[in-house]
Amino acid sequence: MAMIPEETIKAVLDSTDIVDVIGSYFPLKRAGSAFVCNCPFHNEKTPSFNINPAKQFFHCFGCGESGDAISFVKKYENLPFIDAVKKLADRAGVPIIEAAYDPQAEKRQRSRSKLIQLHNEAAAFMHQMLRKSPQAAHAREYLKNRGFNAEMAERWLIGWMPDNPELFLQWARNNGYKGRELCQAGIAGQRDPNNPKAGLWVRFSNRLMFPIHNDYGDIIAFSGRQLIIDKNSGKYINSPQTQIFDKSRTLFGLDKARKHMTKAKFALICEGQIDAIVCYEQGIKNAIAPLGTACTEHHARLLKRYTSEAILCYDADNAGYKAMGKAFDHLAPAGIHIRCINMPKGEDPDSFIQKNGVEAFQNLLQNAKEYFEFKLDHEASETNLNDIREKTRISNELAIKINLLSNKIAQETIINQVAARLGIGTQDLREAMKKASYDQKRQRNYEKSNNNNLDHHGAPAEPRITPTTLDSSVSVLCSLSLSSNEAQEILREQLESLLIPLQQTTGGHLLTTILARNPDASTNSSIMAYLNTLEPADTLALQQTLSFRTPENIEKAVMDTTNMIINSHYQREEASIRAALSQPGLNTEQITHLMERTKELQNILKNLTNRYIR
Ligand code: ATP
Ligand code: MN
Repeated sequence: MAMIPEETIKAVLDSTDIVDVIGSYFPLKRAGSAFVCNCPFHNEKTPSFNINPAKQFFHCFGCGESGDAISFVKKYENLPFIDAVKKLADRAGVPIIEAAYDPQAEKRQRSRSKLIQLHNEAAAFMHQMLRKSPQAAHAREYLKNRGFNAEMAERWLIGWMPDNPELFLQWARNNGYKGRELCQAGIAGQRDPNNPKAGLWVRFSNRLMFPIHNDYGDIIAFSGRQLIIDKNSGKYINSPQTQIFDKSRTLFGLDKARKHMTKAKFALICEGQIDAIVCYEQGIKNAIAPLGTACTEHHARLLKRYTSEAILCYDADNAGYKAMGKAFDHLAPAGIHIRCINMPKGEDPDSFIQKNGVEAFQNLLQNAKEYFEFKLDHEASETNLNDIREKTRISNELAIKINLLSNKIAQETIINQVAARLGIGTQDLREAMKKASYDQKRQRNYEKSNNNNLDHHGAPAEPRITPTTLDSSVSVLCSLSLSSNEAQEILREQLESLLIPLQQTTGGHLLTTILARNPDASTNSSIMAYLNTLEPADTLALQQTLSFRTPENIEKAVMDTTNMIINSHYQREEASIRAALSQPGLNTEQITHLMERTKELQNILKNLTNRYIR
């Protein structure tokens, strides 16, 4: 939350009593040390809404709504977060100082800018390698064959990462970058977390390197394409999640495309980054691509800043068709209008433009179909729409998607169009929509009651945010670091060895952020203020860990859990190498490499078991 510093949020929470605040809206009854009332967020006859004055927290056992004073005001008055803070600040007489000096924030900012600087300089280094290195002749040849000239390569700062990792590591040393920073950037990793002398490995090797920018144009990650086919590794490899990069919140090309999206009034979403580059270079400058993942709600929010229409141009195969359906599911609820291009089989925008020219592609763009029409055309080409069972299946599928449309007028139009096309009454379609939304709510309630065994009062729940999934060890460490500064300290000392395992453990990034942000665990309000700055799904996940019991021996708990995470990470790697070794057709060099890594891993694992015995 850039506008109000955490310090101020903390001050507001410190001088606010949640019981007073909620009590000023409606009467509360005392129940032991807590207060209760009928929940204002769902209909009920017996009060299941609890306010805990000690923790300055409310929780409804009926609908699961919970939070601090700020989230109460935000939700009850339907205010943006900042306005809810301002309202409480007024009430408590706390002045809102926007962007006050905050040493913690400054430290974080320094570490982020160092990482960004590293990315920018590394990109320049790899670009020079591509241009000048005698060993990169094959990479230059490859790019040329794909239709890239020197200016294009420069505009996108395309580079080459040598196969010899020493070249990159040497460059990094000469430019004053520490191993720790290369690991934080995800470009390198420690060979042995227990033995820094074992050196580093480099994630990319003999790959064509595409810098990934954030929407302001800073380089925050890389995507590397294989130059020599090697089935043991992906065609593309991206940087892992880091302090500055999260692929579910990043769109390739957005920094260049964003102003053109606003002008053209739509975004062109391609599947591959090369497609986005080729479109841009051919004058279709509003093109972007997700990074080998499905579109997410975060992507939707990013796009929505610039445009409210997207044209999807995915491969004309089954996978592409499904991916378009998923993109619709995440983009449409944000109010983004979706159209789709019907590509000839086997082509992507890059290959299509190379073969047929950009005008032909512009033509496809102009004829992009409204999502529902596109889906119905596709279904009609695969099945018989007159078959009553198929008709039911399709109308049920479409009902779910029509429910996602946020614009009610557009929804009405679509209902009419779809019903006409399927030859059913609009009333039948509306029934199917009602049933779909009922089924979804039931499913969510079912999942919720499986997640938390709170007592239910039978009230149907509102659609709710699903908390970010955390691996159980990660949630223990999050809980510890939110309740103890000592735990944070110990974890920070372990960060070097934890970083890569955490990147590959579900929810591990949340722990990394906590450690980077350094919230003060000794006061409840600092933690609440910190949680408020996160995405709702993350806030919820971390709030749930707050109810864990704090162990007596914090150091032991931290060490044991850390050990578990590191251990299972290397066991997973060992298992995947064993699987790779059992593949037929490996050459001797590959086998030797895999065997060596197995040996290293066995050593690491052996050392790990002895690690924390003091
Ligand atoms: P190219 O034209 O270079 O073969 P493409 O963009 O046509 O690339 P696709 O296979 O269609 O390649 O992949 C689309 C996108 O998916 C890529 O741009 C890349 O971001 C991502 N991707 C592809 N293969 C992988 C992989 N093995 N691992 C991770 N991401 C991948
Ligand atoms: Mn391609």
